[in-house]
Amino acid sequence: MTLPCRIALAASLVFATLIPVPAQSPGGVKAFTGARVIDGTDRTPIDNATIVVRGGKIVAVGPGASVTVPAGAERIALTGKHVIPGLVNAHGHVGNTVGMEQGKYSADNVLRDLRTYAAYGVTTVYSLGDDQEAGFKARDTQNVPTLDRSRLYVAGPVLAPKTPDEARKQVGEVAAMKADIVKIRVDDNLGSTPKMAPEIYKAVIDEAHKKNMRVAVHLFYLEDAKAVLDAGADFIAHSVRDAEVDDAVIGMLKRRDVCYCPTLMREVSTFVYESTPAWFSDPLFLKHADAKTLEQLKEPARQTAMKNSRSAQRYKAGLEVANRNLKKLSDAGIKIAMGTDTGPPARFQGYFELMELEMMAKAGLTPKQVLASATRDAARCQKLNDVGTLEANKWADFVVLDADPLANISNTRKISAVYIAGNKAAQ
Ligand SMILES: [Zn+2]
Repeated sequence: MTLPCRIALAASLVFATLIPVPAQSPGGVKAFTGARVIDGTDRTPIDNATIVVRGGKIVAVGPGASVTVPAGAERIALTGKHVIPGLVNAHGHVGNTVGMEQGKYSADNVLRDLRTYAAYGVTTVYSLGDDQEAGFKARDTQNVPTLDRSRLYVAGPVLAPKTPDEARKQVGEVAAMKADIVKIRVDDNLGSTPKMAPEIYKAVIDEAHKKNMRVAVHLFYLEDAKAVLDAGADFIAHSVRDAEVDDAVIGMLKRRDVCYCPTLMREVSTFVYESTPAWFSDPLFLKHADAKTLEQLKEPARQTAMKNSRSAQRYKAGLEVANRNLKKLSDAGIKIAMGTDTGPPARFQGYFELMELEMMAKAGLTPKQVLASATRDAARCQKLNDVGTLEANKWADFVVLDADPLANISNTRKISAVYIAGNKAAQ
């Protein structure tokens, strides 16, 4: 937050204590009426629902006939619309990318990204690494009734210690920063780099647990999934992409209720720019995509290089394995946390999450399962208690759609408005 902004906020807080909050101001009482509400719980959708919001949080949600709208509340009519909880991306990244360049972390970029996510209905982003001070600050200042961009949670740096001692020291550092989770990579990038040794990730996980922190693990191989789960890993941050998941790994995930985050769009981004994707002409995508980036991705030389890239072709094959594994794990009752790994160059925030939902449906999940994974389950998996469903005492983060997402998950693209803490986000 800039200094003038902070002064303005301080002034408005002083003001708020002196005079009653007018209904129309952020944080005042609002009543959203007439929509069909899918609240994200197992409850059947509520027709002609009323959602009452005060101070950015839901006070009541239910059929219009049974919810009393307080006198003086601002009324927002949503007749004929469909309301879902704001989407939760359990694996994203913010602040680092400008065009096709990475390593450009800044407060402005963090806010830009959080606004982009919000425009597409992704109202919470759990960043799994490369977070700096501005990201922590954004997280620490977001529990306010005036919020109108996505909520952010942060992992701090991705840890890459070389010894068990260093592992414990680095965990201590991210704990001191008050990161929300510890992130590590256990991968050899298709055989091109050394993989973190078991004694190192064991030390990371052990030390994190001693400090009451969870560990999210980037991985690729089934055998690594088993090994890190055996060591106590708390969150599987990508699909298993080398082999079909078996009963052993399903049992390990189940036993400790560990969530699995498919990031199917991450795979797509590794090979899709071998030609110009059809969605490059979708107005919904173009609304927030950087024109210069698109020009670069359309360059014939770049597309040919991707087409001839061995790793691109291996990740393309990996996506097919990932799709089958997602369906198998979902059928087995494993909790799936919708996540995309967006944020790095050419992984477009917001739009990719909407495509991820469609990919999950294509993999065999029902729209209801996909929606649960992208709202309640993603929130539960990341231990977020005040988002993910539309219930009393949760933040009023929701998406207003023109069509029913339970009939067709692609209807999540038909966004009429996005509300965060009851405030309309910029489209
Ligand atoms: Zn990532």
